Amino acid sequence: MSSSQKTEARPESDSSPELDAVIIGAGFSGLYMLYQVREVLGLSARVFEAGEGVGGTWYWNRYPGARCDSESYYYCYSFSEKLTEEWKWTTRYPEQPEILRYLNHVADRFELRRDIQLDTRVSAATFNEAHNYWEVSTEGGDHVTARYLISAVGCLSSANIPDFKGLEDFKGDWYHTGSWPHDGVDFAGKRVGQIGTGSTGIQAVPVIAAQAEHLTVFQRTANYSIPALNAPYSEEDWAEIVENRAETRRKVEASLGGAPFVPIHRSAKDVSEEEREAIYDDVWTNSGGFKFLWGTFSDIMVDLDANKTAADFIRAKIRETVNDPAVAEMLSPNDHPYGTKRPPIDTNYFESYNRDNVKLVDVRKSPIVEITPNGLRTEDDEYELDIIVFATGFDAMTGSLRKIDIRGLGGQTLAKKWEAGPRTYLGLQVAGFPNFFTITGPGSPSVMVNMPVAIEQHVNWIAGCIGHMRDHGHRRIEAKQAAQDEWVDHVNAVADFTLYKHANSWYLGANIPGKPRVFMPYAGGLIEYGKRVDEVASRGYEGFELQS
Ligand code: FAD
Ligand code: NAP
Repeated sequence: MSSSQKTEARPESDSSPELDAVIIGAGFSGLYMLYQVREVLGLSARVFEAGEGVGGTWYWNRYPGARCDSESYYYCYSFSEKLTEEWKWTTRYPEQPEILRYLNHVADRFELRRDIQLDTRVSAATFNEAHNYWEVSTEGGDHVTARYLISAVGCLSSANIPDFKGLEDFKGDWYHTGSWPHDGVDFAGKRVGQIGTGSTGIQAVPVIAAQAEHLTVFQRTANYSIPALNAPYSEEDWAEIVENRAETRRKVEASLGGAPFVPIHRSAKDVSEEEREAIYDDVWTNSGGFKFLWGTFSDIMVDLDANKTAADFIRAKIRETVNDPAVAEMLSPNDHPYGTKRPPIDTNYFESYNRDNVKLVDVRKSPIVEITPNGLRTEDDEYELDIIVFATGFDAMTGSLRKIDIRGLGGQTLAKKWEAGPRTYLGLQVAGFPNFFTITGPGSPSVMVNMPVAIEQHVNWIAGCIGHMRDHGHRRIEAKQAAQDEWVDHVNAVADFTLYKHANSWYLGANIPGKPRVFMPYAGGLIEYGKRVDEVASRGYEGFELQS
């Protein structure tokens, strides 16, 4: 569908909407939601996607080194056996182009494109209380009505470009990693400055360092990172993955984090120091990746002393890897427990600082004052740069939603409603905004787990709910305020039980100046969450008000 096929506003008197659902976004979430609404429920839907292609995260994030850090054989859909069987991943952690090819394949395979309108940004949506439907408008002038409005806008899709003085006068080129040019950036012979050392920055540093004449990394917070131990799959590896698919599925379903790690029930404090080091070392050397967090000890995220054993181990590895002790010290995180910021995994990140053409600058000690026409100035120094890379993350979880003028009952806006931080029921609905569903919304576990699994769980639940509404002749569903309040309290209580609030992370909105400090995701894991939402459905959508 092309964005030039505009949809005109309908006369007020017409009480049935044009579509059953409008879905905003065509990443993992939007594509699968469209499949469910159209192919499973047999209803009509249109997806509006701001990008010129499908794929979401994997359409936008084309920076050097971009790849997933959930392993490919479970960072994918599981809803279609045929899809699973016909797709073969090449690598343990595939690069962005391969994941984008996969999502394009999904769009083609299930003929989703005919209901996807690309290059179209949704600007506003208003709930029509008289007719119980949403009136949706796009920046390009489309107007359409739909019974349900489903957000698949993504949790990490609104780029955070810090408001540095002078950026507009910079004579070189600058890029945010989440909006990377499609034909790449040529770093050869260039002096590059990179701001940010989160998961993105940590992936980008080794690749940019290998291409650029010089790379200066401006680090505000040192980060823990675990080796990915990435490698292409051999024929034998792939045969093993295929053979074990049923077992993988069973493990994923029994896991906290949507990944096939067998749950561990031992405390880091219950083993001897030698045994603990051996366990960490084995994972560091032979497994890599998220197994360090989820497959070593059960109390790393809930007990500061247990966490310190993991953090100390990583700091020792940094000292062992980085030649210059002063640089190793700067790279060693010391202000937050391991895992309380989303933990990165890497390929030769710390090793990169042994290169002659890489310099690390601590911008906590000497903050960035301004971007100058020729580079960047900190309180203590000036750096001449040809290119600046902003690996500065996202206005996570609420950024993309708050940019849309969403108006619920009584004309209240979502942005206003969430002024003091987002509040949802189960991460799925917001009181006062009937027939509006949020896939991976705040209050859901999505961003703390392997996301495709969380996304499928959400989409299945929403589709089940819409099917229930249709079968029972309901035209309106709304989260009750009391149920929402109770869920928000629960989300906070679970977060308080963990160590997550010990870090200034994007989970808390702490990366965006002025954003309210509220712990946004549900940290209780997928199993507990799944049980809860299934119970709610089986009790006739407890906590929601359904109207015919
Ligand atoms: P997205 O993929 O973000 O898609 C949302 C889409 O909505 C975007 O295309 C956007 O253009 C569109 N949109 C937003 N607002 C509007 C609007 N107003 N109108 C129209 N369209 C709009 N998760 C993991 O579990 N494992 C990983 O290894 C992993 N790696 C990641 C690597 C990177 C670099 C990043 C940034 C994230 C990663 N994630 C990972 C998280 C990742 O975002 C999810 O895994 C998943 O891709 C999210 O899919 P989504 O469809 O929910 O959102
Ligand atoms: P991020 O984790 O928020 O990291 C942003 C970095 O920029 C941080 O180092 C931050 O420092 C720094 N920064 C932000 N504003 C700054 C400022 N004004 N001055 C100096 N430094 C500043 O963002 P991200 O690395 O893009 O990752 C976001 C999320 O995307 C990840 O947590 C993960 O969920 C996902 N992701 C996943 C993968 C993967 O799985 N393969 C890869 C990339 C991203 P502070 O820490 O001090 O705030």
